[in-house]
Amino acid sequence: MTLALDGTAALGAIVALRMRVANVDGRLAFANGGGFVDACEASAGRFGPDPQSVYDRWDEFSEWASSATTGLGEEVAPERLGPPAPAPRQVFAVALNYPEHAAEGSMATPEVPLIFTKFPTCLVGARASVALATPFVDWEIELVAVIARRAVAVAEEAAWDHVAGVTVGQDLSARDVQFTGPAPQFSLAKSFPGFGPTGPWLLSSDEPAARAELELECLRNGERVQRETTGAMTFSVAQLIAYVSGICPLLPGDLLFTGTPSGVGSRREAPVYLKAGDELVSAISGIGEIRQTFYDA
Ligand code: ZN
Repeated sequence: MTLALDGTAALGAIVALRMRVANVDGRLAFANGGGFVDACEASAGRFGPDPQSVYDRWDEFSEWASSATTGLGEEVAPERLGPPAPAPRQVFAVALNYPEHAAEGSMATPEVPLIFTKFPTCLVGARASVALATPFVDWEIELVAVIARRAVAVAEEAAWDHVAGVTVGQDLSARDVQFTGPAPQFSLAKSFPGFGPTGPWLLSSDEPAARAELELECLRNGERVQRETTGAMTFSVAQLIAYVSGICPLLPGDLLFTGTPSGVGSRREAPVYLKAGDELVSAISGIGEIRQTFYDA
């Protein structure tokens, strides 16, 4: 498999042929074998422009979009790409879902998923300039699943039927806030403005590539800091959906951050945190990449 950052040209050609859904300048867009077209215009108003609302009608939309004649559409500058699901009702995330990441923190691999939330106000798109809320902000590349169909106590085997697609995410984390106090508190530490970049678009779960073992790669200022495959997850996407939906209904447009592999800055022998001027690139094979730069708050 070709990693996104090692084979951008080849990957771009492959990705362009796939069914993708994006938030372009705040409007729902999709690409079906070419560049992006505006969904509201292409459907003559059958589907509205709000990128979040499409998940309530996902089956209808994906059936229409996959057969729509759209011409070539346009290549979109990444700066125009907002979060594929910009206003989810719920955002779930998973701690310690890769054994080597648990090990680098001297923690045991969990026997059940450790779930927390990122509050939706932290979401930003494919290119973001993020304020360093504290001097201890760390990176975590993650595969993010977007829910399509309401999921209540679904079996693992049926879990992917409830997924619209997958995208690239960063679970930015202020470690000082996370570990202040007698017990860690994940949710606020990971929800400062800009701490939830997602994008560049959604790769439809109808695409076999979306469900395949994918390679994740995170670079800080050009240096590779994380590299792993999703096959190393302790709990698969399907297992996570089965587990969470047994407790909370998952709703159309909800996000599930599926955990980060090893290589975060805070667990190094000499911890490293993001600094003003740093650039973070997060790429997942078959999907694409997102980038953030950082400045002092
Ligand atoms: Zn995480």
